[in-house]
Formats: sequence, C-alpha cells, structure tokens
Amino acid sequence: MKNLFLLLLAITCVAGAQARGLKGKTIYLNPGHGGYTTGDRPTATINHEYMDTLSFYETRSNLWKALETARHLKQDGAHVIMSRTRSGYVTQAQMEQGILNENQESHALPSQDKVDTRFNQVETARDEYGQQQIVGLERIACQVDSIKPDYFLSMHSNAHTNGSTVNYLLMLFRGETGKPYYENSDSMARVMWPYAFDNPLSTWSHYAADKPCVVGDISWMGGTPPGTPNRTGATGYYAVLKFNAPGFLVEGSFHTYDPERQRLLNPDYCRLEGLRYYRGIRAYFGGKPEKVGYLAGAVKSATEVMDHPRYTYREGSDDQWKPINGAMVYLLDSRGVTVRAYRTDGEWNGIFAFFGLKPGKYTLRYEARGYETMTEQVVVKADNTTYVLPKLEQKNATR
Ligand SMILES: [Zn+2]
Repeated sequence: MKNLFLLLLAITCVAGAQARGLKGKTIYLNPGHGGYTTGDRPTATINHEYMDTLSFYETRSNLWKALETARHLKQDGAHVIMSRTRSGYVTQAQMEQGILNENQESHALPSQDKVDTRFNQVETARDEYGQQQIVGLERIACQVDSIKPDYFLSMHSNAHTNGSTVNYLLMLFRGETGKPYYENSDSMARVMWPYAFDNPLSTWSHYAADKPCVVGDISWMGGTPPGTPNRTGATGYYAVLKFNAPGFLVEGSFHTYDPERQRLLNPDYCRLEGLRYYRGIRAYFGGKPEKVGYLAGAVKSATEVMDHPRYTYREGSDDQWKPINGAMVYLLDSRGVTVRAYRTDGEWNGIFAFFGLKPGKYTLRYEARGYETMTEQVVVKADNTTYVLPKLEQKNATR
C-alpha cells in the first residue's frame, strides 16, 4: 500500500509541473514589430505596393495571430500579458529617423533606407485604455525578466529573398541548440511544434510534424556563445529573448513565399495560426480541450493556374491553382439551414474560416461568378480544425 502511494506520488510529481492546465498561468505574448516602418518587413503584394499600409507588414499579421492566441488563453483562465494590442507604434529611435525623413519633405514613395512614420505613434507606457504598447526589444525583454511569466512566446514570420519558394516553420530559443540558456525553453517549443505545423492551407518546403526545427538562437544565427549580455545580464542572440524565463520565438512561415504572403493579408488566416499556438501552449500545461470546432479552407480554380509576377508558387503544389476572390462560402447545418457565410477577400488567397462551431456534420456550398456551384460534406470535431481545399470548375464560356 505504501509503495503504491509512493508510486502515485511520483507520477503526480512528474506530471504535476505541466498538468494543471492554464488557469492562473501567466503567459506573455509578443506580437513581433509594431509600426509601419522599413524595419517592420513591408513587402509589396499583388494589389498593394511596397510600404502601403494595406500591403504586407509583419506588424499586422503578428498582431492578428497573438490576439487570437490571447482570446483562447484568457477563456481558459490564464493571465495574459501582451507587449502590444495595436499596430502603429514605434520606438523613440525609429520615430527620430522618421522625423528626419519628414524634414526632408520627401513625399514621394518612401525609399528603402528611410522610415515612414506617417501612420505611427512612438511607444508609450499605455494607451487610453491602460493597455501598454511596447515595441522596443530590450524593453520587452526587461519587462519579461521582471514579470517572470510561465511561458513567453514571440510571434513573427520569416524572410528569404522575395519570390523564393522557401517556406518553413522555425522555433528559436535563447541559447545553443540542445542547450537552452533558460530551462524548458526548448522542450516547450517541441511540444508546440506538431500543433503549429498542422496547416494544410500552406505548403511547407522543409521539416515535418515529427521532424521539428527547434534551435538555439546563437547556434542558428551563427553568433559566438554565449552572446552579449543585456541589462538583465541574460546572454543570447535575439534581443527580445534575453530574459530569465521560459520561452521562445516562432517564425510561423515565410512571408517572402508569395502565396503565403497573400494568405497572411487575411486576418482569419492569421487567427488560425494563433489558434494553433494556443493549442501548443495548452498542451504544454495539460489544459482541457475546447468543446467547439473550426472549419477553414481556400477556394481555388480547378483548372486555372496562377500567373502573376508577384506570385511564384512551388511547382506542383496546391499553391499553383488560382485562388478565387470574392467567392461566397455558405455553411449549412445537418437540417440544411445556412448558419454562417464567408466572402473570400480580394487578396488572392481564397481563404475562408469559421470559428467556434458546434461539432457535427455540415455542408459547405461554394458560389463564385464564372464557376460552377459546388457543395461538399464536412465533419467538424471538437477541439479540431477541419481543413478543406475546394476546387471550382469554370462555367463553360460557350454555353
Ligand atoms: Zn519579424
């Protein structure tokens, strides 16, 4: 009897650290970047030019991801701290560079080496609702170091050369590969990996669900161990990771992969990524599964391949098919009643998503001008995202 008790105690102790769920846990989320400067990864897209605030900026996509992660974590009783909840904030240094630009009275397209602050405010301690908006990397690291959260996650997307078809998931922790400078920072990333990797709407070029790319920032970036210490005394490579708490930075995909960048313009596509991060964080703490399910997809042409200089896709992948803008997606329940509808955006991604669905059988109906209407049956499961990739046939033009 005593042995059994000890055995149970041992099991409880091993699992105990991670098996209590999210309630009361402090999670710090850092949506990477913050402003609309040249440092915030502006990239031209099919409909928008370089540095158009409607075009791609990591600032926007990272925030959409993080807000969704935060929403779920809070529902589960976690204490969530976000470095920022809005876009359009820059550091003092970035603002000063921008003021220099203003004084030059250059109202032409912003050049590559100047910072455009027309849409930015300098970071302040808090906004009018009392919410902080911090973007300075060392400031964030120092705050994390003083709060000592149970979990820190910085969200970004990665960059290669524009037009490159490289697109993979990458998780970086402070330290050397196999040697995190703060304990558990690599193991929490490994727990996250399979959840974050599960995105059939994208095309990965490297790695797999069971082959994670979880690496130390110094090893990955080629810095000299242990790196330069910051004000907290923490060493490493990435300024935002230099704190003494468990955490890592995720490069969710490559925004230089054209089809992926077009998808990242869709807030709901980014929310799906945020949802995957929530699942990864929850798994680490052994939290309870959600009762609702999710459904997402991309509406594309069955016959037309995409042909645009700003859309280099991976040969033979699903990304070759032309996404259909402005397609209507109707969600019908088992009685045939339309319960939701979604209009795909005009950004050449075909993305649609339905959040918080009651598990069960549904029918999806797709309608788009110039295409045959199509329906398909889907099953939505609790705590799962069902992904679909419908291909619509063109209507016969001679008819
Ligand atoms: Zn970034």
